[in-house]
Amino acid sequence: MTSAWQVLVGNLASVALLISLWMHLYYRFYGLSKRQLKLGFGAMMGLGVVISMLLSVEFEGGIRFDLRSSLLAISAMFGGPLAIAITAPMAVAFRLLMGGAGAINGVIGIAIVSAVFLAAHFALGKHASEPKGVAATVFILPVTSSILIFVFSKPDTPLIMYKMSLITASLNVMAAAISGMVMTYVHRSTLERDLLRAALTQAPDFHYVKNPGSRFVMTNLNVAHQHGRQKSSDMVGLSDFDLAPADRARGLFEIEQQIMRSGEPLIDHEEALDDETGATRWFSTTKVVLKNRHGDTVGLAGVTRDITQHKRLERELLDSRNLLSQAMAEMSDGLAMFDRHGYLLFCNERYRTAFPLSAYARQPGAHITDIMRASVRNGERKDIAIDVSDVWIQNAAKGLHFTRDTEIPLSDNRWLNLRTRLTQEGSALVVVSDITAMKHAELSLRQLAEQMRDLAETDGLTGLANRRVFDETLASECANAQRTAVPLSLLMIDVDRFKSYNDTYGHPAGDACLKHVSACLNAIAKRPGDLVARYGGEEFAIVLPATDRAAALDLAEAVRAALQQRALVHAGSEFNVVTASIGVSTFDAGTLVMSAEDLVESADEALYQAKKMGRNRVESSGFEARPERLTRT
Ligand code: GH3
Ligand code: MG
Ligand code: MG
Repeated sequence: MTSAWQVLVGNLASVALLISLWMHLYYRFYGLSKRQLKLGFGAMMGLGVVISMLLSVEFEGGIRFDLRSSLLAISAMFGGPLAIAITAPMAVAFRLLMGGAGAINGVIGIAIVSAVFLAAHFALGKHASEPKGVAATVFILPVTSSILIFVFSKPDTPLIMYKMSLITASLNVMAAAISGMVMTYVHRSTLERDLLRAALTQAPDFHYVKNPGSRFVMTNLNVAHQHGRQKSSDMVGLSDFDLAPADRARGLFEIEQQIMRSGEPLIDHEEALDDETGATRWFSTTKVVLKNRHGDTVGLAGVTRDITQHKRLERELLDSRNLLSQAMAEMSDGLAMFDRHGYLLFCNERYRTAFPLSAYARQPGAHITDIMRASVRNGERKDIAIDVSDVWIQNAAKGLHFTRDTEIPLSDNRWLNLRTRLTQEGSALVVVSDITAMKHAELSLRQLAEQMRDLAETDGLTGLANRRVFDETLASECANAQRTAVPLSLLMIDVDRFKSYNDTYGHPAGDACLKHVSACLNAIAKRPGDLVARYGGEEFAIVLPATDRAAALDLAEAVRAALQQRALVHAGSEFNVVTASIGVSTFDAGTLVMSAEDLVESADEALYQAKKMGRNRVESSGFEARPERLTRT
């Protein structure tokens, strides 16, 4: 009995050995396919069955006790049909080879155990290689063994045989349990390992681990491909000296050694390298030291990323920004942008120099109110008083956020044009142009236009209104008088003996005389609305709105007297001084029909009378008021 125990425990040890051997091989044969691995597993378990049978305890009659059932069960449960298709035939063949009385029963037993566990494998599906598979094996195996023992035992079977069967069954269960647990554990850790390995080898960047001597221990596929290798394993053991020019390799080596010595990582180190086509590519590298659980440096891990694209975008952004700021600096207009709350976001130099007295306040970050305040308080603007209230300034600053064009005069006599436009986000873009030259041109143009108009309206010699203005004014005053029933008077003035004046003193003196007369007329007819005009030659006219006949006669007499009093010598005149004759005509409220022509004709008639009656006198004529109107007044 004792030796039987020993043999069976030895059997157990060899099963354990075999399983662990398989686990090691499993890692070694990483590159094998699933099918190949299953076949290999089946062969390994078959080998175990053979060893177990070689180490079996043999009873008289060729009956053998060993751990073959556990190995068959594990092979079928974990390896499935492929594995058991190898294990079972090996077991059958070897059992038959060993012969003995139990050979046939042995083969039947092998077949039954294989079939039962293959069925269990299919029943459990993907759980077969998980703890559930182990539990099922531990449960099914003793049941199957017990049934087999009872089936194969004969009526004269000795008691010791039963005991042996019991021991064998329990050891088989133990062997299966141990193997199963190891298998599931390995299965699980293999999954994790595969995941890590996949993560490393298939990661998009360049990942690598180096040993303290800066030789590659592990790299991902990208690193291998970058160096013209097919597999990552081809990189193992190589160093940069095998891959890069000597001085670059030395540089890398020194940096890595420094990292491992100091423990200081290299973070996002950027460098430009030329690829095989000669194009420059940018890389960013991070290298960190790796320490084991005792704190010893065991190597370093590195990640290198191709940042060429990123770098190019960065450069393009910088270029366009430079271009923009250059354009802004070079442009002839001032440019400023304020955010929706009124803070200056940016401005060019031209914007600042356009406002020399408040340039210091026009800095990014400044608020429009503060800028306005600086400008106003320093008296920069001609259109805003220096002492306006702060509330006024605040309200004016609010005007920033409206689309508009304004022209502002500065105290240094410059004019600026401010064009404000709002962006979609509510920011205000202000373009400032110096329009001084344009503004001055505009002003002188306006002056010129005014002069032109004056020229068209005044008489060149006397500066009085000309005949055109006289005609227009008289027509409109006539209409006005008719509408309002207010009297209107007209004086026609003709210088006496003027032909003789010209003859005596010459034409230029005649001109001077006409100026003299016009100054005299202007001095008398001073009421707003009165119009003194040169009617033609040495004839003048005075339109007197809201003036009745009596007042007109008074004014005419005043003119006549004033001229005589001025006493401009006129030797050719019977009065010895320059005098004039004056005809007066008036429309008063009762007049039925009023027209400018009638009024002029009437005044002319009166003037003719004055001449006829001896000159230097006033005569009136014209439209008599209607009798009934006269009686009423
Ligand atoms: P009367 O007392 O009847 O009005 O005599 P008169 O000499 O003034 O009359 P008449 O109308 O015949 O003469 C007008 C003269 O005025 C003729 C013209 O030579 C002169 N005359 C008209 N316009 C001008 C002018 O612009 N300058 C000068 N110097 N003389 C002018
Ligand atoms: Mg005349
Ligand atoms: Mg005359």
